[in-house]
Order: sequence, then C-alpha cells, then structure tokens
Amino acid sequence: MVITITTAIKDIILQIAAASSFLLLFQWRLNQSHPARRNLKFPDDHTFLALCCALSLILCSVLSGSLFGIINLNWAVVPAFIGMLYGSLRSRIFLGVLLLACTIVFHYPFTPLHILLDSNILIFPLVFSLAKRFKQGTDLEKISIMWGLLASCTLFRVLTPLLDGKSYSVLRPNEIALILCMLFFRFLFGGFMIYWLESALDKLEVEERIAHMSERFRWETDNLQQITNMVPLSIFSIDDNYKITSINDTMMKKLQTRLPNIKRSDVLFLPVFDLIHKLKLNEDKELDRLLEIIVLKQRFMEKVNCLGRVLHILAAPLVPQEPGQIGGMVLVIQDVTEEEMIRSELDHVERLTLVGQMAAGITHEIRNPMAVVRGFLQLMREKSTPDMDSYYQIVMDELDRANSIITDFLSLAQSGISSKEDSNLHDVIEELAPLLWADANLRGQIVELKLCDSLPVLRLNVKEIKQLVLNLGRNAMEAMEAKGVLTLETRCESGKVELLVRDTGSGMSETELEKMFVPFFTTKDQGTGLGLPLCLSIVERHGGAISVDSCAGSGTVFIVSFPYETKEKATYAEA
Ligand code: ADP
Ligand code: MG
Repeated sequence: MVITITTAIKDIILQIAAASSFLLLFQWRLNQSHPARRNLKFPDDHTFLALCCALSLILCSVLSGSLFGIINLNWAVVPAFIGMLYGSLRSRIFLGVLLLACTIVFHYPFTPLHILLDSNILIFPLVFSLAKRFKQGTDLEKISIMWGLLASCTLFRVLTPLLDGKSYSVLRPNEIALILCMLFFRFLFGGFMIYWLESALDKLEVEERIAHMSERFRWETDNLQQITNMVPLSIFSIDDNYKITSINDTMMKKLQTRLPNIKRSDVLFLPVFDLIHKLKLNEDKELDRLLEIIVLKQRFMEKVNCLGRVLHILAAPLVPQEPGQIGGMVLVIQDVTEEEMIRSELDHVERLTLVGQMAAGITHEIRNPMAVVRGFLQLMREKSTPDMDSYYQIVMDELDRANSIITDFLSLAQSGISSKEDSNLHDVIEELAPLLWADANLRGQIVELKLCDSLPVLRLNVKEIKQLVLNLGRNAMEAMEAKGVLTLETRCESGKVELLVRDTGSGMSETELEKMFVPFFTTKDQGTGLGLPLCLSIVERHGGAISVDSCAGSGTVFIVSFPYETKEKATYAEA
C-alpha cells in the first residue's frame, strides 16, 4: 500500500514537472534581447508561449497514468488552456486538436465517451469564448477564468470513473485524500502559472519601456549637444565644485586659438579657475566681478572687455529640480566686438546725419536773404558812381562763390534716389570738352581725350555726371602748373565702364589721400572741400566706385567705374 501511495506521489510530481516545463522554455525566450525577440522570422511572444505549452501538453500526455486505477492522472489540460487563453485563434485550434489527439493516443480505455470527457472537448467552446475577455482582464480576472475552467475539468475528471461503474468507496481514506489533494493542487497550480506569466510579462514590459526611454533620452541628449554645438555662442557648464561638466564646440575652438594643444578631455572636469589661470585671465581686473559671481553662483549678464574683445557674458545658476541632482552654473559667452564697433559707428553716423540735415536746412534758408542782398547790391551799383563798381563786383563775386558752395553742399545732402536715363558717357564728355578746353587755355594747359571705340549704354543722371566730370577736371587743372596735361580717358572692361581723369600735377600726399572725401577738407585758399565728397555721393548714387592712384610730385589719376549689365545692347560712340 505504501508503495502504491509513493508511486502515486511520484506520478503526481512528474505531472507537475511536465506541466510547468513550458515555463523554462518561455523564460529563455523572455531573456532574449528585445531586437532578437522582435525578429520577424520567429513567432511573437504569445505564439511562442502556445508552442511551449504544446510541448508541455505532449510531455504530460506521455507521462500520464492512472491514480489507484480509478482516476486519470494527466495535467495536460493546464498548459493546453494557458496556451489557448494567451494565444491567437490559430493557437487555440492547434492546441485543441493536439489535446484531442494526445487523449486519443495516450488514453485508455479508448471509448468516445472517455475521449469526450478526458479531452475536455466540451469545455473548448467556453475557452474560445472567454479568450478575448481573458486577454483584456486584470490579473485577478485572468486567474478566476483559469480557475473556472479547471473547476469544470475537475468535475469531468471526478465524474468519469462513475460513468465506468467504478466507485470511490473502494479506495482507502488516504488514497481519497491524495486524489483530492492532487485535484486541489492542480487547481492552485493553474492559478499560480497565470500569476507567474503575468509577472514575467509585466516585468518585460517595464524593461522594454525603460530601454525605449533610455534610447529616447540618448537621442535627446545627442540632439541637444548638436544644437549647442551649432550656435555661434560659447557655452559651458560647471558643477557645484566649479568643475567644467560640458563645453560646446564653439567654446572649444575659442580655447584652441589661445591654447592650441588643448583637447575636450583636458577641459572636462577641470576646475574653471584652473582654466582661467591657464588662459592667464586671472590678472584681468575686468573679470574680477565675474569670478566673484561664479563663486557665489549668482546670475550675471553684462558686457565685459577681455583681451581686447567685447564679450557679452551670461552666467546663470542651474537649479536642481530634485534633491540629489547636480546644480552648478551655465555660462554663455558671445563675442560682440564687431557689433559694438558697428553700433558706435552707427551712433556717430546718426549724429553726423542729424547735423548734416540741420546744416542743409539752414544753408537753404541763407540763400533767400543772400538773393535779396545781391539784388539790392545790383541796384545800388547802378545808382552809385563808377569808381565804386569794382568794389560792388568783389562783393557780388563773393556772394556768388558763397552761393555755389551752398549749391554743392545741398547736392551733397541730396537723397540716394536720382532720376536716370539711358545715356552714353562719351556724349557727356564731348559736351563738356569745349568748357574744359577754354578753362585749360586760360591756364596754359592742354586737355586730351582718349575715348575708347565703344561704350555700352548706361543709366545716368546726365546733370550729375557733368558735375562729376567738371569737378574732377577742375581739381586736376588746379593741381597742375602751366603746360600740364589733363587726360580724360574711357575704357570698357568686364562688366564695368571706367572713366579716368589723369593729370600731370602735384600729386597727393598720404594725408590728402586719406582725407580727400571728408567734407570741407581742402588744401586750397579758395577751396570749399566739397568737390570730391560730392563726386563720391554722385558715383554712389549710380552704384559705381571711385578710386585714386597718386603719389606726390608725379600726378594723379581718378578712376570712376560704373557697372553695366552685359545683356544691355552696346552702342558705339565715335572716339
Ligand atoms: P577743393 O577743390 O575745394 O579743395 P575738393 O574736395 O575738390 O575740394 O578737393 C579736396 C582736396 O583734394 C583738394 O584741396 C586737394 O588738396 C586734393 N585734390 C583733389 N584733386 C586733386 C588732384 N587731381 N591732384 C592733387 N590733389 C587733389
Ligand atoms: Mg575741387
């Protein structure tokens, strides 16, 4: 009797081992890394579980037997139901057919009624209908469904011997107790398997979520690093111990201009004060306040002069969001030297423009009283004695000179837009030539024209161009003694027309070259110093450029270039 009980216990243990064997295989599967498991050549986790359950099912059937010759000992139904509940419809059909087949193959006696009851085929519709609900349920609901199904199986198992005409009364109390224990334990075992699987799947989900999050975190960090590297600002951060924790590429490049051999790894985790020492900035008094701010970890936003550059420095403390997080500071440095220079120049220009505008307004108003004075002078001259004539003439000449200065000054203050028309530069020069010849004749000088064969049509304000040529020509004549030669030359080169006004005069010194375009700069007693600034503003209004080639004693050449579009038709002017 003892032997029978021991054998029965051994058989039960074997069934437990066989019914739980699928867990080993499934655990192996879960231990695989995420991408390996997601490999499309392999089934998904739930189908794999169904396959594992199928193996367990076969193992249970192979090891099945009978307890005390009265009740069938086969736990195949546990892995079969688990696989069916977790798997797809295909898995359910497959496991149902497999369970039926195993019951037919390994069960005895082979009668349709036994097969019907022992294969639990009658419960299959229940399993199929509950599978969807099972998948959506909580852990407790899942365990309850499993227990419900196993309770029905247990009922069939207990009823089967009665249908064979066998009676449980032939069994001893301890044998009945063992049978009851086995049935109860199978019931518990089913619930435990569900619990184990749920915990394993939950753990897996958490792990996958963490892996996904860390991947995303890495991506965000890379992204942020790339952004900070791309901005033209020097950015670095320090921790609570003043050690540099991160530094962007712009800052690294700036450091490398001062310390050529320095690498990122040398800077990272270096105390910021050591770096300042290396850069020899600790003697810079301007930086004292910044260093103090860093020590006190305060906010700072100021422009600082450092090593001849103007730096806009922003230092801001990093506030830890949670206790235990790293604080420290972030420093953003922008080199604003160029911007500062442009700003101060703009300020200067703005002041000058204002003064210029006021002067233009005032000079315009001076013209009116001057015209009245000139008119009355004319009248007085007619009425006075002839010996006073020369005095009147001098006063009127001076008034005319003052008027011409005002005209020049006002043209200088004229706005950038002037009306232009299609014209040929040669025509303008030829129209002016007699005037220049007459002027040169009086001085005993010669005017030569060296005009090229053809010139393209240019958009010119003829009145202004005449003024330009006259100004340059008169300057040239004024710079020359008698017998000097003034040459007006034109040439057409890649995309531009050039007018050269050449003289054989005194030439210009360095200072003259430097200051010639400054309004009112003149070296002549009777000069106004407005001729060249006016020329410059005319040329600029035509989108051109003016350059000078001169050296003291050997003459000067002014080169005025006008741009033209090559698609414009070239017209031919006679030289
Ligand atoms: P202004 O003729 O009234 O002096 P400009 O603006 O025309 O004023 O010229 C400014 C100065 O530039 C002149 O005083 C002269 O010193 C110098 N300059 C201009 N053109 C020549 C030239 N062709 N040769 C030498 N010096 C020149
Ligand atoms: Mg002049």
